[in-house]
Amino acid sequence: MKSIVCGIDLGTTNSVIAFLRDGYAEAIAVEDGTAILPSVVSFEAGDCSYWVGQRAKNRRAAFPEATISSVKRLMGKDTTITACQRSFTPEDISSYILKHLAERASEHLGERIEKVVVTVPAYFDDAQRRATIRAGELAGLDVVRIVNEPTAAALVYDHVQSDAGEESPYVMVYDLGGGTFDVSILEIRGEIKEVLASSGDTSLGGDDFDERLKDYLLKELVKQAGLESIEEDVRLRVRLLDIAERAKIALSDRPYVKVQEAAVAMVGGRPLNLDIELSRDTFQSLTEDLIDRTMRKVEEVLKEANIDSDDIGKIILVGGATRMPAVIEALSVLFHESVEHSVDPDLCVALGAAIQAGLITGESVGQILLDVTAHSLGVKTLDMVDPETNKPDYFSTIIRRNTRIPVSRAEVYRTIVDRQRGVDVEVFQGESFSCLENTLVGSFFYDLKPAPAYSPVVVEFAYDREGLVRICVDQKGYDNRKEVTLDIRNRKVEDVPERKAAETPVNYVAEKAGRLVRDNRLSENLRQVIRQVLASYEEAIRAGENEDRVEEIEDRLLEIMEQAEEELELSE
Ligand code: AMP
Repeated sequence: MKSIVCGIDLGTTNSVIAFLRDGYAEAIAVEDGTAILPSVVSFEAGDCSYWVGQRAKNRRAAFPEATISSVKRLMGKDTTITACQRSFTPEDISSYILKHLAERASEHLGERIEKVVVTVPAYFDDAQRRATIRAGELAGLDVVRIVNEPTAAALVYDHVQSDAGEESPYVMVYDLGGGTFDVSILEIRGEIKEVLASSGDTSLGGDDFDERLKDYLLKELVKQAGLESIEEDVRLRVRLLDIAERAKIALSDRPYVKVQEAAVAMVGGRPLNLDIELSRDTFQSLTEDLIDRTMRKVEEVLKEANIDSDDIGKIILVGGATRMPAVIEALSVLFHESVEHSVDPDLCVALGAAIQAGLITGESVGQILLDVTAHSLGVKTLDMVDPETNKPDYFSTIIRRNTRIPVSRAEVYRTIVDRQRGVDVEVFQGESFSCLENTLVGSFFYDLKPAPAYSPVVVEFAYDREGLVRICVDQKGYDNRKEVTLDIRNRKVEDVPERKAAETPVNYVAEKAGRLVRDNRLSENLRQVIRQVLASYEEAIRAGENEDRVEEIEDRLLEIMEQAEEELELSE
């Protein structure tokens, strides 16, 4: 029987081990059901025994001197690390992580794992590569091949079904991990994958986003406690960083998160609690420049490879931090296309290493099975007008196509008028910006409590493997939540209250026209015309005039509104 060769992504922040069996690549759950192992080692003071992974990470706040993280940054350097009064080389520490992964994989597979393929960043030099092989040897493993991380990621995408037509051979791998950022341009011609250019920043990653949020939380803590300042000792720093990371991760899926933590610090024998609500907008404004730094590297690497952004056929996102919506938004602007994850960005490199291992041992590789959403799912919003129909018809995506399920995502929308009575929540499936071209999968009415215009309403979708979507609508700050379950596969909406007959739907055109009438940047003449046509329009609706007549006036109104918008644009 052939022995299994595993693939290992030995990351700065996290590591993953995967294998290929019967043509399918699979990441192995190494602790508590998760395949993601923090690349952290923590030593006991007495006998220098050690912990690896989440347990080691949990000890970081209490035993910072005995806990070692991000050792990958030191690989290939002539340096030592001191813990429990002993010196360790970076290779020693990495070997403990590799050994731990191989042992868990051996238990899972029921056979001893001896051979592995290990990935390294494309920019790793010879000394760093040799140090990685040495770490494998120290762990009792035979490193049969070292593979570049972007190449491993691209290898996975060779085996993912794609409905794209003729594709360009150029692929960009954007990898934002915990501590490092790498971007590479690959040229793919069949089996040959060449790294054309690679760049990055070895001191930029998800940790920097945590750091920014931590500084903000510290300021809030000081403010809430009515103090001038608080001394940031190691324990407070680690605790706040941990809170910041959890909040950051939550903000990838929802627009707000509540941070409620007791006894974050002790001042004068008094415990200080943290109780604030963070918004994604605040987080994004605190970290905007970090995203910009990655985008400058992207531009640099495109220039180096002598490739235009339009020539890139595929963008592969790797690293947990690429789940931040700001990453996808920034890339979509530069590449004028929607950017998606179709393979879990945390597992992608390890799965690629497993495929490489399988190719070495002569395994056949099949299609990678993905439990992902087949279509984007979202709601109709009234803040954009479809140019063809002139009707407000904008499809706002909440869960993107190809997102791994189960998943839960939320977005925030705003009311249009003061004391708005309610909203029609219309759920669509599809990829077009226009709801008319997508499929309506269900709708229901949501009553609002009286509130000023522009009040936030949060819509959350939780999609499970059975095709059920639980939708929760929440009028923020008004204790007004409603939950509805939608059966996407059978197109059924449950728990839908009857829509009230007397309800007057919000008329978007009239509302917008009303806003223009009040906009004093417009000439008085134009405002007067809008006022008159709007009055006849409202009168026609009130009097129940026939549809053609109402549409005729509506068309006139829309025309003048367009003129007004142009005037506003010119005035900017
Ligand atoms: P990696 O080194 O690829 O494992 O990436 C780890 C980094 O990804 C850490 O900074 C995590 O905090 C970050 N990360 C993981 N999941 C998410 C998420 N859903 N949103 C934002 N950052 C995330």
